[in-house]
Amino acid sequence: MRQYRIASIPADGIGPEVIGAGLEVLDALAARDGGFSLAVDHYDWGSDYYRKHGVLMPADGLERLKGADAIYFGAVGAPDIPDHVTLWGLRLPICQGFDQYANVRPTRILPGVTSPLRDAGPEDLDWLIVRENSEGEYAGHGGRAHRGLPEEVATEVAIFTRVGVERIMRFAFDCARKRPRKLLTVVTKSNAQRHGMVFWDEIAALVAADYPDVTWDKELVDAMTMRMVRKPQTIDTVVATNLHADILSDLAAALAGSLGVAPTGNVDPQRRYPSMFEPIHGSAFDITGKGIANPVASFWTASMMLEHLGEARAAAALMTAVEQVCAAGILTPDLGGKATTKEVTRAMCEAIRGIN
Ligand code: ATP
Ligand code: MG
Repeated sequence: MRQYRIASIPADGIGPEVIGAGLEVLDALAARDGGFSLAVDHYDWGSDYYRKHGVLMPADGLERLKGADAIYFGAVGAPDIPDHVTLWGLRLPICQGFDQYANVRPTRILPGVTSPLRDAGPEDLDWLIVRENSEGEYAGHGGRAHRGLPEEVATEVAIFTRVGVERIMRFAFDCARKRPRKLLTVVTKSNAQRHGMVFWDEIAALVAADYPDVTWDKELVDAMTMRMVRKPQTIDTVVATNLHADILSDLAAALAGSLGVAPTGNVDPQRRYPSMFEPIHGSAFDITGKGIANPVASFWTASMMLEHLGEARAAAALMTAVEQVCAAGILTPDLGGKATTKEVTRAMCEAIRGIN
């Protein structure tokens, strides 16, 4: 029996509702598969913890997570605590502490979900967006001079290192190679930014030489936004900087129809540390406690986590169940349905038991 240790951090708002639903579905999958089991450690970190202890997680938090095979994360953020406190108090220390340098966002239009792209269906949009997650525009370099004076200057310097760009590029080519179309688009802005972005282009060409089986092209980020809307079929795997991919992946989530279905993984491809998987939506306090949070993002997140653990068969079964449940119209109100979180979860567990 293959055994995995999962660290569950549901945190705030609808986080506990959707992670609870995801853990139920994972239990059903493990029972059906029979080949693996999951031991789940529960952590009560987040905004409630902050109100009691003044920090979002204990000082030895990373130490305690280190032994996990993966981290299953809900959402962090509360109306009474500033966003930068919650973000820098929990998610970012984990991403940085465990060098999760690749952020991965699969994007598809699920059956029963309507995309704002007229006529676009599941066959037109099946993307994997890879975001550089450790440096670039969000490295925090820069500063302010002459504060408050007419000659005030602020700089925000993007940092691109050879190690950093090369490792994300290799990871993206590896991802593209594993997908049926073996197609990668490298997004930069090298017409206007002639240092870091030209560097990206150069490293892309260098790494591409090791992947003769992958077809790749380059696109400027502004043109890429148009291509995503006008020619979604021409895109498969995408790699871009921290800032560019941040923006492109939100566009992608919107084009796929709903925030409530979109998952993401913060991955250490070298597997020195646990990777962290989470729905991309936030804590959504407007619907917290109402029992109507869409758990599909959390299910898809769980599928990514299983894939990362090497349980590809269970990961695929989970997505088959998601597609069956969505196609049957068992949808939460954000997708125009009437089902509750619990009803969708129950339907998922039944679908899983029915898959052979
Ligand atoms: P945060 O501040 O943590 O980002 P938020 O309250 O801004 O959280 P988001 O997750 O960014 O919430 O989502 C914006 C809105 O989308 C929510 O207020 C909610 O109405 C809706 N939403 C998000 N996720 C879901 C979901 N899983 N199911 C249903 N509705 C959702
Ligand atoms: Mg938000």
